[in-house]
Amino acid sequence: MMNTLDELLGKINILDIVSQYVQLRKTGRNFVGLCPFHKEKTPSFTVSIEKQIYYCFGCNEGGNAINFLMKYDNLTFQEAIENLARQYGVNIKRESSKKASSFDALAKLADYYHNNLKASKFALQYLLARGIDIKIVDEFKLGYSEKSRQNINTFLKRSGVSNDIFMSTGVLRVKEGETYDIFRGRVVIPIFDVNKKVIGFGGRTIEKDGFPKYINSPESPVFSKGSSLFGIDKARKDISEKNEVFIVEGYFDLIALYMSGVRNVVSTLGTSVTEGQLTKLRNYTNNITLMLDGDDAGIKSALRLIGLFSEMDINGAMVVLPDGHDPDSFLKAKGVSGINDVIKEKKPILDFYFDYCMNKWGMETIENKQVFIKSVMPHIQAIRDGVKKRLYIKRLSELTNVEENYFWDNMKTNNIPGQPVARNNASNHIGRKVIGALINCPGMLSILKEKEVMHYITDINVRDILLKMHDFFEDKGSLELNSFVNVLDKDELKDMAINGVFDVAECTDDELRIILQDYLKHIEKNFIKEEAKKITESLAGAEKRGDEKAIIELLEKKRQMLVFMKTNP
Ligand SMILES: [Zn+2]
Repeated sequence: MMNTLDELLGKINILDIVSQYVQLRKTGRNFVGLCPFHKEKTPSFTVSIEKQIYYCFGCNEGGNAINFLMKYDNLTFQEAIENLARQYGVNIKRESSKKASSFDALAKLADYYHNNLKASKFALQYLLARGIDIKIVDEFKLGYSEKSRQNINTFLKRSGVSNDIFMSTGVLRVKEGETYDIFRGRVVIPIFDVNKKVIGFGGRTIEKDGFPKYINSPESPVFSKGSSLFGIDKARKDISEKNEVFIVEGYFDLIALYMSGVRNVVSTLGTSVTEGQLTKLRNYTNNITLMLDGDDAGIKSALRLIGLFSEMDINGAMVVLPDGHDPDSFLKAKGVSGINDVIKEKKPILDFYFDYCMNKWGMETIENKQVFIKSVMPHIQAIRDGVKKRLYIKRLSELTNVEENYFWDNMKTNNIPGQPVARNNASNHIGRKVIGALINCPGMLSILKEKEVMHYITDINVRDILLKMHDFFEDKGSLELNSFVNVLDKDELKDMAINGVFDVAECTDDELRIILQDYLKHIEKNFIKEEAKKITESLAGAEKRGDEKAIIELLEKKRQMLVFMKTNP
């Protein structure tokens, strides 16, 4: 895949791609135009032919031709590549053959379950009782797995797919020489990816005393629970159009909402919301609203996400369903107008948290107020948007009768432990420059690795990018930005690398070298500090044991370290 991708990138001229959508004019070495990703009157959207990259100085959006199409046309990576390959006449291999055959096996299983359901009065009756008619059964391709083993064996023989591949999906297993399927006795809900391929299944028991109520396919080469979202195949368009997505935690919650006309909704696979899922959704919208059960578990799960939302710069909101309802049961009780009413009352997640804390601790005594302030402050501190932050500080001040200035001063001096440090801080900026400098002189990467200091870089994003850069450079012998950004799986990383290159665009080679040397010194210091700490600890241990040989060795190490620190201030 990677080689074909390189071939493709080699043929593409980003100017041709972007010009199809944006009017560009030449200024110096670059082309500029009005940014299609944010509103502006003077052009800050820049295309560099030399780097084969676009970048907007207004909204910091940037990337290669693939990223441009993904963003502009709301395509997945795979779709953007297919689109470009068509335009440039490059033959791309699709997924590796192993993955392709897994998809094939899963699609055949889905057909098999679906036909089973259509033939089972018992299972259809169950769904009908839940308000799910045959139209929905077809739309979601719901299925049923019979209890008898005979059926599955006939299916296997006729499928034309080897048993190994079915086994690798984890759906079929062998016990005492006999093949069985893990969904026996269950209604089966296929989970499709955004390209409408079956990647796994959920199963709801319909047997009396069936246990557990729900199971999912196990993780497989094509299925990961932590980043898959049920319903994304159907919801994608609505999410983009409405610029908002609702998240629920159950298959039938999603189906109920879908039937009631709320279609910009996805569901986790019965688990709590993960960072991987949020990352996927953020490709379509920044407005993510949780619609979780109104019970304690639902609320806990929402609270857990507050930090992640601010870290990922997501506008999180919360719809609270009353009386311990889940979306499915609520719809049954209150109907479509009922659900529309509660949706109207959705709250930003931090407002929800304010209310929750006030209810929990009250605000009557000074102690209560202290607890309240301690609970909400870290979340206010993590807000990136200045206006939003101001408004919450104001509100906090009104609620507690503590003047606003106190909170502002407190935020300046007091970095609350355990909280993410704001993205645009100074060290982050340096990290970005280093990344930019290394993309320009990748030869310096080997120095970083040889010194084994990479693991002492405290910013995980910077470390992640540098390690990936190193591997990429070793593998390819070059480090072209437009090709490298494809291995950066998170938007945050991609943005950082591109910003970095533009940060140092005006630097001379000498300046770049200085940036790298300073940074190297900085992480070396961290490294030595850590090492010195370790030696001191080992020394204490050796002294306790009376291990003279170890003591002498450690003292020598310590001496060397002190010499090093003196000569490398
Ligand atoms: Zn822009």
